[in-house]
Amino acid sequence: MKEILADYSFEEIENLIKELNIQKFRAEQVYQGVMNGKRITEMNIPLELKEKLLEKFEDSPLEIIEHIESSDGTIKFLFKLCDGNIVEGVLMSYIYGNTQCVSTQVGCRMNCAFCASGLNGLIRNLSSGEILYQVLAVNKFAGGTIKLRKVTNIVLMGSGEPLDNYNNVVKFLKNINAEKGINISTRNISLSTCGIANKIYDLAEEGFSLNLTISLHSAFDEERKKIMPVANAFSINEILKACDYYFLKTKRRYIFEYSLIKGQNDGQKDIEALTKLLKGRPCHINLIRLNEVKEKNMQGTDKKEAYRFLGELEKNGLSVSLRRQIGVDIEGACGQLRNKFVEGK
Ligand code: SAH
Repeated sequence: MKEILADYSFEEIENLIKELNIQKFRAEQVYQGVMNGKRITEMNIPLELKEKLLEKFEDSPLEIIEHIESSDGTIKFLFKLCDGNIVEGVLMSYIYGNTQCVSTQVGCRMNCAFCASGLNGLIRNLSSGEILYQVLAVNKFAGGTIKLRKVTNIVLMGSGEPLDNYNNVVKFLKNINAEKGINISTRNISLSTCGIANKIYDLAEEGFSLNLTISLHSAFDEERKKIMPVANAFSINEILKACDYYFLKTKRRYIFEYSLIKGQNDGQKDIEALTKLLKGRPCHINLIRLNEVKEKNMQGTDKKEAYRFLGELEKNGLSVSLRRQIGVDIEGACGQLRNKFVEGK
């Protein structure tokens, strides 16, 4: 695989143009071309420069090879990377804008019991440019440019564990936030982690106003270990301490994701334990009914029960919401569509 231009910051492209002995103003054109989701061959630059760039760089970091639209307007994308690997993403429309769900790894090594992404382990990390280009490609697909963005919000909730690919994810956050680029503020970006506590401390030091989301899924360490192997490495207490530090540094409240699994984490004892654990903390809880994955023998909590769970937590004074399930008809949960595609081949 050659290099990819989307891995370069504007300053790095400036240096590259200098090294190639090309006039300085071309750097801006190349950078804007990348940020508008263009291939090198599509850029409005001289042929000679295109040829020089193509010696060193792939024409495009990835391609949208399939998109499937749900009846509720959600669009699921399959991206093909230069080495043939496939990752997926989703674009969801809300009243306030469009949120894109982005992948950070091909596969995942966290092996959560309910998740389709980890079924075949980790294949490889995505580079910062491969993460960034998912957004640039979808923005272009939706008719957007760097000035008129069609993607307004991002969640790092596709396949992969972002804090297990820390350096590339941080570089992605810097590049997506760059003034000359697509410039999506980290305020509009959420990073979801299964709870790699030591990396949360590092993230707190980066100076981003990023929304931190933790996949909790149980208020009991022993129960958590059954569904999330990472819980053997970091206890809930260690995660909460890291969240406290994150809040201290960023002044941003954090969010807990809680996927309701029928008969497993949706009982009265769970309501009580969650309340005890989280009451008074600067946090919000996002409940979601588990999306059933065919390879996994687990069911989502019934709608009625999920509303009861929500109501009880609210009554106990917690800030909580139940996310509507979107894109179920297009296998919207992490890793599902990719697995179907890879299996089908
Ligand atoms: N690795 C990160 C981000 C990816 S997953 C993390 O663990 O947070 C994004 C969210 O979807 C996580 O909260 C994850 O636990 C949850 N999830 C995965 N599979 C799911 C499923 N089948 N149904 C509901 N939520 C699921």
